[in-house]
Amino acid sequence: MTTVAIVEDEPKLSALLNDYLTAEGYNTVRFDDGTIALEQLQRSPVDFILLDLMLPGTDGMSICKELRKTSTVPIIMITARVDEIDRLLGLEVGADDYICKPFSPREVVARVKTVLRRTSVTDSTAKQPNGFTLDELGASVTINGNESPLTSVELNLLKTLHDNPGRIFNRNQLMTRIYADSRIVSDRTIDSHVKKLRQKLEALDSTTQYIHSVYGIGYKFEIEPYG
Ligand code: CA
Repeated sequence: MTTVAIVEDEPKLSALLNDYLTAEGYNTVRFDDGTIALEQLQRSPVDFILLDLMLPGTDGMSICKELRKTSTVPIIMITARVDEIDRLLGLEVGADDYICKPFSPREVVARVKTVLRRTSVTDSTAKQPNGFTLDELGASVTINGNESPLTSVELNLLKTLHDNPGRIFNRNQLMTRIYADSRIVSDRTIDSHVKKLRQKLEALDSTTQYIHSVYGIGYKFEIEPYG
């Protein structure tokens, strides 16, 4: 059984999330204090964490950073502050996804399912279900036995996304990882490289989507069938 920790100090919200998640068959543990939550979650790991940003005791961002030192447990941050999203999903804090307040509990349950599915997709990525292989030395990608050459920018782009399945990168993060001097490139340059890379992947395997756009943020790698 999957255990979800609900770390939320507003009692009504916490109860509502609890109702919806238990109705979906999840086991839950609830915390309303950040410091206690961090201690308990380090001592007794759970399968998934819904983490409010503003909490008494230790705040959600510090909890996430601290847990990330030792754990890859999926974490969805709940925040009322849209301006924090880039930082929350960045490498420094390392949340897997975010939900903005106010939200519907139905949306939260859907996101939990998506992130859990993504985590299990990560496992199957390791088994290479589509025979997806990135050849760094040969600068090429192979899917189902068909190979396509990649430019060095495309290779770096695909490697960055592929090595962190499900993690959303914004254009700035991609630029600094791909170019030695990222000042010379614009957002549109990244978009056009992504577009070309997608065309190559689609030519190799038209049934599966590998690179996904995340509206308003950037891109992520996930092996997902179309349709
Ligand atoms: Ca709060």
